[in-house]
Amino acid sequence: MAGGFLSTGKFNGVNKWLKNTHEWFLPGSCILCGRAGQLDRDLCAGCVSELPYLKSACHGCAIALPQAGVCGKCLQKPHAFNRAWAAFDYQPPVDHLIQLLKFNGKLYSARLLGQLMAERMMMAGLDMPQRLLPVPLHVSRLRQRGFNQALELARPLSRELGLPLTHGIACRLRPTVAQMGLDAKARRRNLKGVFKVMAEPGVSHVAIVDDVMTTGSTVEVLAKALKRAGVARVDVWVCARAAKPG
Ligand SMILES: [Zn+2]
Ligand SMILES: [Zn+2]
Repeated sequence: MAGGFLSTGKFNGVNKWLKNTHEWFLPGSCILCGRAGQLDRDLCAGCVSELPYLKSACHGCAIALPQAGVCGKCLQKPHAFNRAWAAFDYQPPVDHLIQLLKFNGKLYSARLLGQLMAERMMMAGLDMPQRLLPVPLHVSRLRQRGFNQALELARPLSRELGLPLTHGIACRLRPTVAQMGLDAKARRRNLKGVFKVMAEPGVSHVAIVDDVMTTGSTVEVLAKALKRAGVARVDVWVCARAAKPG
C-alpha cells in the first residue's frame, strides 16, 4: 500500500509542497556571496550593508550631492517631473544585479531590488503617489525580451508599499534607439512623441518607476506626457542613478 502511495503523483505533489514551504520559511542563499540569506531575501546581511546606497542626492535629478538639496543644473532648468529619487548609485554590485535582470532575465533580481527600494523609500519618508507607472517598453522590445524590467521592479514595490500599478495608461508608440552616445538634440528627436498617455480620472500624483536613470531624458518625456494628460504631480523613482558619461 505504502509503495503504491509513494509511486503516485500525490507523493510528488507533497514533496513539491514541502520544498516550496522550505523555501518560504527558510532563508535562501545570498546571490552575491553564497552565504545564508536573510529571512525574506536572497542576500546576506553583510552584502546588504555594503550596497552602494545613495545617501544624499539632488531632489530634482537624484544625482549624488555632498548634502541633500537641489543641484545647480536643476536650479537653472527644472524638470517636467517634480522630484527624482534613486535607491542606489549605479555601482557594483547593483549594476550587476540590474544587468542580471535586464539581460539575463533573472526576475529574482527584480524582486530583491524592488524590496530594497521599498525599504529605502520608507526610510526616506517619501510622499506616496496614488499610482506607480513603470516606463513602458515598445511591444517589439517586449516581445524580444519577454518582460519589462521596469514593471518587474514595480511589482515588489507595489506589493511592499501597497500602491496600485497602472501600467495600462501609457504606451510606447515606436521603438527608440539606446540614448547612450546620443547628444541632447538627438536624444530629444529620438524620444519626440514616443509616449501616449491616457488620463485616469481622479489620479493627480503618479510615480514613474525605472531601473536606471542616466540622462533622465526618457522619464522627462514621459513626465511631460503625464502632465499634458492632467496629472498634477509626477515623481520619478529609479533603482539606480548613473552619472552622465563624461
Ligand atoms: Zn552575501
Ligand atoms: Zn539635480
